[in-house]
Amino acid sequence: MDQKKVIIIGAGPSGSIAAALLQKKGHQAIILEREVFPRFSIGESLLPQCMAFIEEAGMLQAVIEAGFQLKTGADFLCGDKRSEFYFADKFSPGFETTFQVQRDRFDALLATEAQAQGTVIQWQHQVLGADFSGAKPVLTVCDEQKATYQTEADFVLDASGFGRVLPRLLNLESPTNFPVRQALFTHIEDRISGADYDRKQISIVIHPKMADVWYWLIPFSNGRCSLGIVGEPRLFDGFADNQQAFHALVAEEPNLSALLANAVYDTPINGIKGYSANVSALHGKGYALLGNAGEFLDPVFSSGVTIAMKSASLAADVLDRQFNGQAIDWQRDYAQPLQKGVDTFRTFVTSWYEGGLQDVIFYNQQQPNIKAMICSILAGYAWDERNPYVKNSQNRLNTLVELCRITA
Ligand code: FAD
Repeated sequence: MDQKKVIIIGAGPSGSIAAALLQKKGHQAIILEREVFPRFSIGESLLPQCMAFIEEAGMLQAVIEAGFQLKTGADFLCGDKRSEFYFADKFSPGFETTFQVQRDRFDALLATEAQAQGTVIQWQHQVLGADFSGAKPVLTVCDEQKATYQTEADFVLDASGFGRVLPRLLNLESPTNFPVRQALFTHIEDRISGADYDRKQISIVIHPKMADVWYWLIPFSNGRCSLGIVGEPRLFDGFADNQQAFHALVAEEPNLSALLANAVYDTPINGIKGYSANVSALHGKGYALLGNAGEFLDPVFSSGVTIAMKSASLAADVLDRQFNGQAIDWQRDYAQPLQKGVDTFRTFVTSWYEGGLQDVIFYNQQQPNIKAMICSILAGYAWDERNPYVKNSQNRLNTLVELCRITA
């Protein structure tokens, strides 16, 4: 078989993992990335499930040795209610820990690892156009000198994240069922000194008065944290600017206020709005969409990078089989298996904002076996159909919510 050339748009986690996997299978992966790395990205708390894809791509040792903050679980807080989930207690087999990562460093590391495996990365090459009408896909690209050129491939994987290159160019954008939400976030020197504070957990903190408003606190290994707040845009109305809104809203939450009493806010407040997105199709002749270029749900369960890597792993496998002459049905072999886990997360995200999942999380008579199944999904094992909360997520979760509410 001739070596096949796969162009990947974007060097985020989905792009680098897909590239490394394709190189391992004997194909030539070329990434076109519009930025130079390291560059900032939001999405810093990983899930244990994604370690399996990092391992599959041959990058596990490099990630372990990079000195990122170990993550062992999630700590949910709502006023004086607290509920901790330790990934080691999960139902599904697999990695029990992961990391909380500064994405500039993490994404650069994955890209370097992909390069070490033979991937060619063209930095500051922005994809502007795509034509799938001929025998092979042709992309129009603007290079670092601002010169435009065309390039041909055997297949294109769109890993452009919120750039959403092919969804925009091919009119694949489709409405999401989630309302528009907005996040404000920053990095701080946290100076947290409390002896009972565990840097190995992400904290998800619910606003004392508005159950659909929540904060994340993601500690890094260098004494700094990522701190963010999520709500519908009207939450941020009436403030002079993001800076004022952020500080006022953090001050409204007593747990965070106490924890961060000595924090140094030394970085501008950043924001992103209307990030939930969907597409009408995850594939077409000559291309497939990975990670956020396909669907993005919501940040609350830190599922974005895990879904991005799962899509890379599935697509690399399906594409390799296609190159080897197997009859491939991208809907059956790629979109549907990917969708299974995305739908599990969708059920959980929807229930979180409706309040049902919050009642489950803070339920005071939790059964260890049920908690283990919920914990599995919080650890990213959303494709493990041995877990009833994956196989039949909607019905099982609705029943559990009812039970918790009746007996609370
Ligand atoms: P990206 O990481 O976005 O990478 C896409 C790359 O494509 C970029 O480098 C970009 O420069 C490049 N690109 C774009 N357009 C072009 C173009 N035209 N030509 C060439 N290159 C291009 N996920 C988690 O797992 N954990 C979290 O804690 C978490 N928190 C989040 C908080 C918020 C507020 C939001 C909005 C998201 C969060 N996410 C989180 C989601 C996470 O950020 C994404 O799911 C993840 O980065 C997706 O990876 P990706 O590889 O698909 O795309």
